[in-house]
Amino acid sequence: MLTLQSPVTEINGIGKTRAEALARVGIHTVSDLLWYFPRAYQDRGDVRQISMEACDGFDHAFILTVATQPKSARLKNRMTLTKFRATDETSSAELVFFNQPYLSTYFKVGEEYRFYGKLQRAKTHYVLSSPAYERLDPNAPPHDLVPVYRMTEGMTRKTLENAVHEVIEALVPLAPDTLPESIRKRRGLCTLAYALRNIHEPEDHTALRRAACRLVFDEVFYRLLAVSVCSGQRPRCGGIRFADAELGEFLACQPFALTGAQERTVNEICRDMGRDGDVPPMNRIVVGDVGSGKTVCAQAAMYVAAKNGYRSLLMAPTEILARQHFADTEPLMRRLGYRVALLCGSMKARERAEVLRGLVSDDSSEKIDMVIGTHALISDGVRCERLGLIVADEQHRFGVSQRAALSERGSEVPHTLVMSATPIPRTLSLAMYGDLDVSRIDEMPPGRQRVDTFAVDEGYRARLNAFIRKNVEEGGQVYIVCPSIEEAEVQDEEHEGRELEGILFPDESKPPLKAAVKYAEELKNGVFSDIPLAFLHGKMKPAEKDAVMLAFVRGEIKILVSTTVIEVGVNVPNASLMIVENAERFGLSQLHQLRGRVGRGSRKSYCVLVSDSDGENAKKRLNIMKKTCDGYEIAEMDLAMRGPGDFFAGEGQKLRQHGDTGLRLAASWQDVEIFEAADEEARLLKDVDPRLESVENARLREAVLKSVDTSIAKLN
Ligand code: ADP
Ligand code: MG
Repeated sequence: MLTLQSPVTEINGIGKTRAEALARVGIHTVSDLLWYFPRAYQDRGDVRQISMEACDGFDHAFILTVATQPKSARLKNRMTLTKFRATDETSSAELVFFNQPYLSTYFKVGEEYRFYGKLQRAKTHYVLSSPAYERLDPNAPPHDLVPVYRMTEGMTRKTLENAVHEVIEALVPLAPDTLPESIRKRRGLCTLAYALRNIHEPEDHTALRRAACRLVFDEVFYRLLAVSVCSGQRPRCGGIRFADAELGEFLACQPFALTGAQERTVNEICRDMGRDGDVPPMNRIVVGDVGSGKTVCAQAAMYVAAKNGYRSLLMAPTEILARQHFADTEPLMRRLGYRVALLCGSMKARERAEVLRGLVSDDSSEKIDMVIGTHALISDGVRCERLGLIVADEQHRFGVSQRAALSERGSEVPHTLVMSATPIPRTLSLAMYGDLDVSRIDEMPPGRQRVDTFAVDEGYRARLNAFIRKNVEEGGQVYIVCPSIEEAEVQDEEHEGRELEGILFPDESKPPLKAAVKYAEELKNGVFSDIPLAFLHGKMKPAEKDAVMLAFVRGEIKILVSTTVIEVGVNVPNASLMIVENAERFGLSQLHQLRGRVGRGSRKSYCVLVSDSDGENAKKRLNIMKKTCDGYEIAEMDLAMRGPGDFFAGEGQKLRQHGDTGLRLAASWQDVEIFEAADEEARLLKDVDPRLESVENARLREAVLKSVDTSIAKLN
C-alpha cells in the first residue's frame, strides 16, 4: 500500500530510470513528490484572440477551429512538419508541429481545440508553433489552470502529472493535518488535504489561492518554530566572547571613512560578539543593496575574531566571488599582521594540504588566521581549530540548517554573519530570517554616481553598437546580458528541463541559450571583431567560467556577453556599460541586480535595456528602471506589480525555489498577512511550548523537524 514514506518506485509508471530522474530534483519518496509544488501555472482560461497584441512574446491560450486538413511533410533534416490553418472570429493562424506526424489525423476540420503557446507574426500571417493542445469536450472541460513543474532530463510532464495525480487520489484524503485545528480555524485556513490537492490540480483561481495560503502559512510557521525546536535538541552553548573589539588600526587601513550605516552595522556586530559567554553567539544578517559596502563590515568582524585569537571562515557562493574576496581581504589583513588563505575546489592537492595544515596549526610559520572559499569549505571535512566566526556572502544558498550543521563542528559555537545583497521586502525577510538579527545598510557610500538608464528598441541597434565602441575606446568595459532558457535554473546551476523549453518557449526550435552563443559569435566576427570579447554561460565548466571572468576582471576582455550567470556581487569597477537584451524577460529585481554590476568605480556608467516588447507590464518595468535606482523601492514595486501570489507563467517572471531556505512557496507568494499570522501563532506557541514537547503538539513537532531535515538533505 502506498504511504507517504513509500519510495516513488511504488507509484505506477515510475521505474528505476524515472526514479533516478526524480531523485535529481530531490524527490525520493511519495511525500517528496506531494511537496514538489508547481513552479508556475499556465492560465489557459484567459483566452486571447489572434491579433497583433497577442504577439507579445508570452504564452497565451487561444480557442481555434481547425480550418484546413493537417498535412505532414518530411523535412531535409529528417524532421516531420505538420501544418494546418485554424481560426477564431477575428483572424486565422498557421499551426505548426514538429515530429508529431500522428497529429495530422488527430485534429479534425471544423472542430474546436484550445491551444496554448506563443503567437508570432510572420511576414504575411500569424504562426502558432508547437503549442500545447486540448480537445474541447463540453462534457469534460479541461482545467483552466495547468501546473508547470520544474523538469529535469529524463522526466516528462505527463509522467509527473500522472504520478502526482495517483498520489493525490490515494493519499491526500487520508493525510493527517499537521497544523493544530485551533490555529487552522482561527486563521481561516483550509485543510492540508484540500491544499495539497489544489496546489497541484487547482479547481480555479480561488482554490489555488486558498491552497497556497495554507501551504505558505505552514512553511513560514514551521520555519519560525524550527529554530526553537532545534535549539532544544542541542546543548545550549554560549557564544565565544571577543573582549577586544578595538577597531582603530583596522579603520586606519581603510581608504575611506565608514558610512553611518556601516558604522552602525559594525557596532552591532562587535556588540554581538563581545557579549558575555552565557548568551548565544551572534546570528546576524547584514542586508544592503549592491555596492552598499557590506564587505568591510565582514572584514571588521574577521579582524576582531583574529585579534582575539580565533579563526574565521568566509564562504562565498562561487569561486569567482571567493577569489575576489580573497584579493580584497588578503593585502589588508597582511598589513594588519594576519594571514589569509584561499581554499577552493580547483586548487592543487599540495596547496590545499598546506591550507588545511594552517587551519589546525599553532606554529606561526604556517598558521592561517582566515580562510576564504566556497561551499567546499564546509562540505569537504575541513577542520578548523579555534573557529570563532563564519561569514557567508549571499545568503541564498546558505540556509538555517546549514548554519546549524556548521555550528556543530567545534566544541565552541562560532558567531555567524550572513550578508545579503538581495533587497528582500521586509515581509519576506521575516519569514526567511525570523531567527536572525538584521542590520540594514540603507545608505550608499558617498560619491556613488547614478547609473543612467535607457530603454530602447531594435531600431537603436546601430547607435547602441557605436555607444559600446565608444565606451571601450574610452577605456571602459561592457557587459551584454542575454536571457537564457530558464535563467532562474541556470543561475541556481540546476538542471534545465528539455521539455520545459517545449512548454514555455514552444516557438523556439533553437533554445535561446544557443541564440545567445550565436549572438556573441556574430558580434565577435562582425561589428566588434577588433575588440576582445568573450562569452559566458551556465553550461560552461567552473574553471572555464572563472578563466573568462578573471580575464574580464583584469581588463583583458573588454566586452563580456553572458547569460545571467554573471556572478552576483562580482566587482569590476572599470565596467561602465550594462546592456540587457530582451529586457522584457527579466523581473524588476533582477534588472536591478544586473544594473548593480556597473557604476562601481569612477567612470560614468550607463545601463541600456533593449526590448521590442509591446507588453504593458514590460513597459512599466522598464520605466521604473529608468526612474529609480533604489533597490528597496524596486523590490517593493516588483512585489506590488506582481501582487502576492501572482506566480502565473508568462510575463517572464519565474517562480524561484529558495531551496536552501526551505521556503518553497513563501518566497514567491509574498503575502504580508499570512507571514504576520504565522509569526503571531509561532510566538504564542513558543511561549507555552517552545520545544513542542507536549503530547498535543507531537505531530506538529514531527512536521517541523521534517521540514528542517528536508532542507538539510538538499545540502548534501
Ligand atoms: P557590496 O555591499 O555589494 O558587497 P562592497 O563591499 O563590494 O559592496 O563595496 C562596493 C565598493 O564600495 C567597493 O569598491 C568598496 O571599496 C567601496 N566602499 C565601501 N564602503 C565605502 C565607503 N564608506 N566609502 C567609500 N567607498 C566605499
Ligand atoms: Mg559583496
